[in-house]
Amino acid sequence: MTRLAVRHGAINLAQGFPDFPAPAALKAAAAEAIDADINQYAITWGAKPFRDAIAAKYQRTYGMEFDPEREITVCCGATEGMIASLLAVLDPGDEVVLFEPFYENYGPDTQLCGATTRYVRLQAPDWSFDPDELRAAFTGRTKAIILNSPNNPTGKVFSRGELEYIAGLCQEFDCLAITDEIYEHILYDGTEHIPIMSLPGMRDRCILVNSMSKTYSVTGWRVGWVLASPDLTDSIRKVHDFLTVGAAAPLQQAGVLALSMPEDYYRHLSTEYAARRDHILTSLQNAGFRCFTPHGAYYVMTDISAFGFANDTSFVRHLITHLGVAAVPGSSFFSHVSVASQYVRFCFCKKYETLEAARHQLIRLK
Ligand code: PLP
Repeated sequence: MTRLAVRHGAINLAQGFPDFPAPAALKAAAAEAIDADINQYAITWGAKPFRDAIAAKYQRTYGMEFDPEREITVCCGATEGMIASLLAVLDPGDEVVLFEPFYENYGPDTQLCGATTRYVRLQAPDWSFDPDELRAAFTGRTKAIILNSPNNPTGKVFSRGELEYIAGLCQEFDCLAITDEIYEHILYDGTEHIPIMSLPGMRDRCILVNSMSKTYSVTGWRVGWVLASPDLTDSIRKVHDFLTVGAAAPLQQAGVLALSMPEDYYRHLSTEYAARRDHILTSLQNAGFRCFTPHGAYYVMTDISAFGFANDTSFVRHLITHLGVAAVPGSSFFSHVSVASQYVRFCFCKKYETLEAARHQLIRLK
């Protein structure tokens, strides 16, 4: 959709990357690191100062302790963190439980490992799940559940009660929770992000994947990390070493500054995104979309039934070619296109002028 948007000069509310600059101090830190000749391979599992900064950040934010020497692996974004983790723990024939709609990569990731995916539906409008359906998805072959909270594409933030229920199943079925927490600091309406790894009994049965991409508005830097107990980390580091060797050394150095940002930075991030969310919700509702209000992350899932299109893809093509706005057909977040042909996702990690321009275009749908 991004390519189609470029071809038609459309406003890109499809792919989730900011069109505003990264924090100036962060850019300066990256430039300084290159200038200081931090230009060669870092240690494969991550430069020590960066791993130390990650450990300090989790201690400050969640009171969680991680040993930088044995429990942290720096990788090329959450994307590599997830596939390296899955390749490290899954064997062909294993089963993975996945909520749908889901971030697109998880499906192919599990397929690449030869694992089977069992899907559990998050039900609109609040994207809750049926506890019995979730339980029924766990079997003797389940190796892991993949959990993304705050969630892309729905904006759902899993509650403590939901996480406790999932944690209970992981313990009962002796399996792992592999979590993608890339939107941990993008939260609205007083919601709280709770790493499931911090719940009782979960410390050694979780793999926590995260990245600088969204929190620091640097999706192109490709720096992420994986936190896990020493045994799991040992396997993940081996896969990571052969996949990519390591993430960009100067950008890991700049990451030290990023992960040392004061609390204010994160508060400001959420407040700013909350205002953008409200802006796009108004634009979409005024244009005739039914919106599912997100409580985290920076996407709005919408229902397009009111427009009378056969499916989401033909609607999005119409949107791009006739109205100059790009979005993502919701079916790309589901295992089967047919079960979800009337959802479309918009992202709002954009400048106000971009959101304003989109508002002017979208209203023409009426
Ligand atoms: N995980 C989720 C849930 C995402 O939404 C995205 C990007 O949109 C990624 C991972 C990609 O992360 P990274 O840029 O760190 O590879």
